[in-house]
Amino acid sequence: MDERDAEIEVCQAIWPELTQGQEDPYLLNLVVDVELNDPLELLFKEPETVHGEGNVNYVSEKVKYLPPLQVAIALPSGYPETAPPQVSISTTPSWLPREKLQELEDLAFSLWKTGTSDILYCYIERIFEQPQDHFGYTSGIKIGSELRLSLLEFQASVIKAAFDASTIACTVCLERKSGAECYKLARCGHVFCKGCLHDFYTAMIQEGSVQSVTCPSPDCHILSASGGKVQPSIPPAELLDMGMEPETVQRYAYMKRKKAIDSDRSIVRCPRTWCDGSSRSKKYPPMKDIAEMRELDETTTTESTSSDEALNSKIAICDKCELTFCRRCKKTWHGDFAFCGTSEEAAADLASMEFIQQHSCECPSCGSAITKSSGCNHMVCFNCRTHFCYICGTWLEPGNPYPHFNTLGTQCYQQLWVEEDLIERKTLVRRRVPDRAPNFDAQVNAILMEQLRLEDEQ
Ligand SMILES: [Zn+2]
Ligand SMILES: [Zn+2]
Ligand SMILES: [Zn+2]
Ligand SMILES: [Zn+2]
Ligand SMILES: [Zn+2]
Ligand SMILES: [Zn+2]
Repeated sequence: MDERDAEIEVCQAIWPELTQGQEDPYLLNLVVDVELNDPLELLFKEPETVHGEGNVNYVSEKVKYLPPLQVAIALPSGYPETAPPQVSISTTPSWLPREKLQELEDLAFSLWKTGTSDILYCYIERIFEQPQDHFGYTSGIKIGSELRLSLLEFQASVIKAAFDASTIACTVCLERKSGAECYKLARCGHVFCKGCLHDFYTAMIQEGSVQSVTCPSPDCHILSASGGKVQPSIPPAELLDMGMEPETVQRYAYMKRKKAIDSDRSIVRCPRTWCDGSSRSKKYPPMKDIAEMRELDETTTTESTSSDEALNSKIAICDKCELTFCRRCKKTWHGDFAFCGTSEEAAADLASMEFIQQHSCECPSCGSAITKSSGCNHMVCFNCRTHFCYICGTWLEPGNPYPHFNTLGTQCYQQLWVEEDLIERKTLVRRRVPDRAPNFDAQVNAILMEQLRLEDEQ
């Protein structure tokens, strides 16, 4: 009997997954699953470097399941006396670095060199130990970012397959169901059978009590900002995932949006008596595709507070008749630079306009006021995407803006990261935002006079 047959027989008794080739029985194949007790850290190289300074950033992911090692072992004739075993290892996609694969392949030759009698057994045992030892990596494995999605998807599919094959007792109908018939809620992880979830949510939506479309567990809640218990709504996209009818989900998303708008006091009614519209708001953009609504509460996203919007916050546009009006005085829109309302309100408007003038510069292409809060002096206009220098207002090459700050002898040399307060005033020659209203000074005076008069009266 060939010595190779004896070795293979012993190993197959221990590892039944060790298979022999159809044509060549001495060509062995082994699939080594990578299922870890301790998660392994993967470091995905970010493709973009920050400001071209050559810094490489990594996105870290800890994973427990990775695509298996495909191990092919050839025992040539002459093995074990005169010929070493030949091994090739791969993974699909190739997430384990080539140097590591080479090291594991070379291990077979090293074992053969020692002259031990049961090389195949020792080798396979060492390979099976590798995953739990994290392949010898102690500070993560560096991987190209293009593999990130496929590796995360692989892990999700392994977890899903295990879930589908499990048996679960639904706490609503009290029946035992297979995992494939159940659904795990994304936020809290509570599991119910799809039938119970479907019937419960459909009934709630038909009744119009959209606030009850939450986890059916009686004590499942999160803490709100004020410390109270709230039961977060199930996002529309998740209702689709669990098999709800699109028409029902559409109705749910529509009713939730309408309820939120109706109860929001920052929304003002259209001043036209014949119109029942209300002001359009960035808080309530037109409804998007329900399959994309994955946020817990799509309708309560925080309002953007850029200085640009603060200045325009008095303007309102009716979502029905499209009348543009002032949300404070309810008159047809009178422009940003006209004051209305009480003297306190007008003074606050003035202060915010002065702040913007102090802390912004003008885009050299379109004239928009650009505010710099922090960061470098390479600016990109939010309106027209022009790249320019915050210090001198020069237009910069979008693909390569940095030579402007790296050319010896120019006024902006090495000024890329200089904060506004440290920019020498004599070099700060950029144009400020001009006063757009010709009667600006007169209006400011009127407000100041009014304030003095009020103070006198007290
Ligand atoms: Zn059930
Ligand atoms: Zn829950
Ligand atoms: Zn209207
Ligand atoms: Zn007004
Ligand atoms: Zn611009
Ligand atoms: Zn410059």
